[in-house]
Amino acid sequence: MNKEQFPWGHARRFNSYTEHIRKTFGGRMQKVVVDAGFTCPNRDGTKGTGGCTYCNNDAFNPSYCNPVEPLHSQIAKGIEFHAIRYRKASKYLVYFQPYSNTYAPLARLRALYEEALSYPDVTGLVIGTRPDCVDEAKLDYLMELSRKYYIQVEYGIESCYDKTLNRINRQHSFSLGEQVIRMTHERGIKTGAHFIFGLPGESLNEMLAYAPVISALPVDSVKFHQLQIVKGSKMEQEFDPDDFHQFTLEGYINFIVRFIEQLSPAIVIERFSGEVPPRFMKAGLNPGSSESDLNDWGGIRYDAVLRLIEKELERQDTWQGKFYK
Ligand code: SF4
Repeated sequence: MNKEQFPWGHARRFNSYTEHIRKTFGGRMQKVVVDAGFTCPNRDGTKGTGGCTYCNNDAFNPSYCNPVEPLHSQIAKGIEFHAIRYRKASKYLVYFQPYSNTYAPLARLRALYEEALSYPDVTGLVIGTRPDCVDEAKLDYLMELSRKYYIQVEYGIESCYDKTLNRINRQHSFSLGEQVIRMTHERGIKTGAHFIFGLPGESLNEMLAYAPVISALPVDSVKFHQLQIVKGSKMEQEFDPDDFHQFTLEGYINFIVRFIEQLSPAIVIERFSGEVPPRFMKAGLNPGSSESDLNDWGGIRYDAVLRLIEKELERQDTWQGKFYK
């Protein structure tokens, strides 16, 4: 295979976010996470108080983020953190990641987003949120910003099935997710969606059936994570091995290969799996079994999992969208 054979114009076997960003910005761009002190309607009592059953936001928040610090100081620390570890980027996207980052009056959102955009070399924002935390006015404002900056809204959709969304206490339906994705996309704002594989009560075939549903959505990019059971989440208490499809690493790689063969080649894939710091991982979920469990391989670095997925795509001579209809 050579790059001319894939519609995304490079030789990798999936429509890679890294390549997409390289093409968009003409070089290296680094995302810097900030914690602007938002909460979420599924925690503050507006929708619920307990949150989604898998949620423990501390497990996903980088150590350099601290909501009591001003945004500029968080951005400076984030840039420094990445510069020590990786090749220095020349451009940055500020990633409003923890909790629901559109869950505030528009005036407060304006102040926060514009403060972030005023930092030198920041060329855009990535804003993680829930489908029930946007409205026409907020999206119209983001549409204005997107004429000048790279603006991406990333929605936690998590599952295509309402039975699962109810079960994990998301407090919104899949159809609401579909609706806000359309509202965002039609304003020309980059639209991302996040999904979790391995949620309770879903079979492998039900998860594979996400592919045509996601392909029909006007999303620009997607992130996939395997379910990881983190300490301090409700799911830690509720976990029943008979009710969860537990992926071994090998099983997950095979699943991803099958899955992306059916996914639209137009959708950029940002991640295939997640990493939770080991101190947050619940150990020994599947005691006595010869199978490895959901959390066994969650500490493996994403780069290593990605290499295995790409190796398997190569071995099987397959690619994203091969069987997309
Ligand atoms: S996962 Fe997101 S939406 Fe769910 S409780 Fe946690 S912060 Fe709120």
